[in-house]
Amino acid sequence: MTLMKHRDISLSDDEQGVCSTVGCGKTPKRSIPRKRVEKTGSLNLQGSSRKTALCTDCYRIFKKSSKKDRTMESLGR
Ligand SMILES: [Zn+2]
Repeated sequence: MTLMKHRDISLSDDEQGVCSTVGCGKTPKRSIPRKRVEKTGSLNLQGSSRKTALCTDCYRIFKKSSKKDRTMESLGR
């Protein structure tokens, strides 16, 4: 019995060269952990990779909302 291990080296979502936001399609500039982006709930992400690639515009949106998130956190103290 031979076990053929197929290495998954196919290009994943973040290697496609486009922003991870649905319908964006711009060139990504930043790589952000998916969880952090999902936490803000400000971006509609496609794919299921653990890291998301964000273009400048989407990163700005993410940053804005994560800032808001942080403010809420400090308010909840
Ligand atoms: Zn984008």
